[in-house]
Amino acid sequence: MKCWQRAAAAGFQIPKISDEAKQEKFPGTNCTVLNGKLVASLMATQCKTLAAGRKQPKLVAILAGEDPASKVYVSSKGKSFADVGFASETIHIPSSEATAEKLLATIDAANADASVSGILLQLPLPNGIDAGPITARIAQKKDVDGFLASNMGLLALGEFSNATVACTPFGVMALLAAYGIPLASKKMVVVGRSNIVGKPMALLGLSADATVVIAHSRTANLKEVCREADILVAAVGKLGIITKDFVKPGAVVIDVGIHRGADGKLAGDVTRDVYDVASAMSPVPGGVGPLTISMLTMNTAIAAWT
Ligand code: NAP
Repeated sequence: MKCWQRAAAAGFQIPKISDEAKQEKFPGTNCTVLNGKLVASLMATQCKTLAAGRKQPKLVAILAGEDPASKVYVSSKGKSFADVGFASETIHIPSSEATAEKLLATIDAANADASVSGILLQLPLPNGIDAGPITARIAQKKDVDGFLASNMGLLALGEFSNATVACTPFGVMALLAAYGIPLASKKMVVVGRSNIVGKPMALLGLSADATVVIAHSRTANLKEVCREADILVAAVGKLGIITKDFVKPGAVVIDVGIHRGADGKLAGDVTRDVYDVASAMSPVPGGVGPLTISMLTMNTAIAAWT
C-alpha cells in the first residue's frame, strides 16, 4: 500500500486481523463487520511497542472558544494519546482572547518547540476567524491532520515518502487493508468531496489502483452511480442517505458519516438494511471513527520518528 510508505519507515506494519475475527457478521446476515475498534487496538499496540527507547511523540491541540463538541473531541484525542503513552497538551484560548494574531503566535511557538511533534488546530474557530491562513501556518512536518496544501499536494502527486495523509481516509485504507480487501482494478465510488475526507479518500483509492468516481450533491442519478461500486465510501454527512437500493449485492461499504439519531444513538450515512446486501461494512459506531484517532496517533509518531 503506497500510502503506508512513511508509516513503514517509522516501523509501523499494516494491521492484519485474524481469520477468526474476519468471521464476525452482522447478526442475521452474511455481511462481515469491518471492526474499526479492533484494528484501532492493533494500531495502539504497535504505537506502544515501537515507542520503546524512542523520542516521546507529543501532540499540541489548540482549542479556541467554547464549542462543547470541540472540547469533547479534543479531550478524547488526549485520552487516546495517554492510552498509548504519548504526550498531549491542550492550549485553550477563551473566545474573549481568540484572535487571528493570538492563534498564529500559538502555532509559531509550537512550530519552534522541538518537543512538539504534531499540532492540531481544532475547528471551527470562533469570532468569524478564517481557518485557512491559521492552518497554513502549521509546519508541514507537524501537520498531523494532513490538511495543509503541501501535504494534500504530495498526496495528489502520489509522493508518499514525505506526505502526511489525512487521518479519516487513511483510517479507511488501514481498515480495508487489515481485512485484506483489494482495491486494484475495483470500482470505488466516494460520495462526498470535502477536503478532509472525500478528496483525499479518492486520491488514496487511486494510489491503490482503484478506478475512482467521486460523487457529490450535484451528481445526477446518485443511486445508479453508487450501484456500480465494488467499494462504496459514504462521506456525506446525511443520516441514512445510502440505502439498500444504492448498493450492488456483494459490495464493500464504508460508512464515514457520524450522526446522533432521533433515538439518541450514533448512526451513519448508511442504513442498516445495507447489511442484507453488502459483503462487508463498517458499523457506526465502531468503524471509521476509532481509526481516525488511531491515524492521528500514528501520524504524530511518524512526525516524531522520521
Ligand atoms: P462536508 O464537508 O459537509 O462534505 C459533505 C460532502 O457530501 C460534500 O462534498 C457534499 O457535496 C456531499 N453531499 C451533501 N449532500 C449530498 C447529497 N444529497 N448527495 C450527494 N452528495 C452530497 O462533510 P465532511 O467533513 O466530509 O464529513 C462527512 C461526514 O463524515 C459527516 O457526517 C462527518 O461528521 C463525518 N466524519 C466522520 C469522521 C470520522 O472519524 N468517522 C471524520 C470526519 C468526518 P458538495 O461538495 O456538492 O456540497
